[in-house]
Amino acid sequence: MTTPVRVRFAPSPTGYPHVGNIRTAMFNWLLARHSGGKLILRIEDTDVARKVEGAVKAIMEGLNWLGIDWDEGPDVGGDYGPYYQSERLELYKKAAERLIEQGDAYYCYCSPERLEEMRAGQVKRKEPPGYDRLCRDLTRDECARREAEGIKPVVRFKTPLEGQTGYNDVIWGNVVVNNSTLDDFVLLKSDGYPTYHLANVVDDHAMEISHVIRAEEWISSTPRHLLLYRALGFEPPRFVHHPMILGPDRAKLSKRHGAVSILDYRDMGYLPQTMLNFLALIGWSLDDKTEMMSKQELIDNFSLERIGKTGAIFNREKLDWMNGVYIRKLTADEFFDAVQPYLMDDLDAGKVLISDEEYVRAVLPLVQERARTLVEVVELTRFFFTEDLSYDSALLIGKNMDKAATFEALEAAQEDLGKLVVLQESATRETLPAFDADSLEGVLRPLAPELDLKTGQLFSVLRVAVTGRTAAPPLFDTMAVLGRERCMQRIAAALKRL
Ligand code: GLU
Repeated sequence: MTTPVRVRFAPSPTGYPHVGNIRTAMFNWLLARHSGGKLILRIEDTDVARKVEGAVKAIMEGLNWLGIDWDEGPDVGGDYGPYYQSERLELYKKAAERLIEQGDAYYCYCSPERLEEMRAGQVKRKEPPGYDRLCRDLTRDECARREAEGIKPVVRFKTPLEGQTGYNDVIWGNVVVNNSTLDDFVLLKSDGYPTYHLANVVDDHAMEISHVIRAEEWISSTPRHLLLYRALGFEPPRFVHHPMILGPDRAKLSKRHGAVSILDYRDMGYLPQTMLNFLALIGWSLDDKTEMMSKQELIDNFSLERIGKTGAIFNREKLDWMNGVYIRKLTADEFFDAVQPYLMDDLDAGKVLISDEEYVRAVLPLVQERARTLVEVVELTRFFFTEDLSYDSALLIGKNMDKAATFEALEAAQEDLGKLVVLQESATRETLPAFDADSLEGVLRPLAPELDLKTGQLFSVLRVAVTGRTAAPPLFDTMAVLGRERCMQRIAAALKRL
């Protein structure tokens, strides 16, 4: 009989949601969704000193953003709760007591000062670090005497001194360690809180977890966990230790490589579908060529067996490329919906213009092909939404042109465009061109030779005048969207600057 898949994401709320952790959640979620199993969100908040206010909320926000949903957890409940470890302390205490009764654990009364001294000695003598087992064989009387002195003990696991502990990792195959290399690790701290090891094992058993999928950095903890499973008489789950995300220098991805919070990637304008696809391909692959995969394709094709052994590099250029591809795939409505919140957040934009949906919808197609992030969309289109362009008037001076020639060119353009405006006002819509890209081109292109200029020279002067920038979307389309009035105003303002 095969057991149903029950996997868990078990973050410690000690900070922002790191992309590495979120990717762990994603692998768990992909297996759950692929196999019709359950994903459990469990908050491992037993390290009181490192707890960070708001971390749980941020983790959930990151998961929600990517569309990673869970079946049981602190917010949605479930049959195996509570899902905060801090609300399960009784369970860990009971397990620790049971281990003491069985002779698999013991009280340790060593003071922090003594442990510090011990450690310093080990370093000096170049010995491997680890508790020297001073309290391992205390008698009941010796324990009672220390209790009477008011010393609050920790509970340590009585690690077997001989033999080996091993298991078969789905990714790493057989992993075996000599028990002599493991120390008597702490199970319960003196404040009654469990350590990660104890709480993790007690909960994975209690929550009937079938697969523990976590980052490679936990692989060295697993033999300790297995010893605990054995001592407690629990059947261990399958273990899957996936490789870590590495920075370009092959070191564990950290803040010094740039942004690492998943929410930063949202704020930088990456689409959730990009992020999901991109993170899945760090360390997992379908084959050696498929790059673009939708959420459903990832779910359909996911398998633990195709998680690689080696750490994979977080390649920002690939992320940008992929986001560009996803941006181009969006329908006009999807693109509008995706960009809207970023535009609204842009402090430099004119609020009236930003709220003009029709105008925004006319602007967006001009950049959809070129933008790699939604923030870039905001930057590329800002001039559309700013009433007063600020730019250095030196930018206006065309290549191989001087101030006078630039002035002359702008004035001529103003005059010709003025004709187009008048022409249009006096004509019926059907028979004469509106202020659109074609009519603009029809008026402006012939102007260059009249002024003894190359078209490029004239157009770049105009581009700066109407956008304030030397690079912008195609000039005539841009002018058409900006509209007659705004173009005329901007050209007039440019003339004044000169
Ligand atoms: N609380 C651990 C963490 O923050 C969980 C490790 C595990 O999955 O066992 O990553």
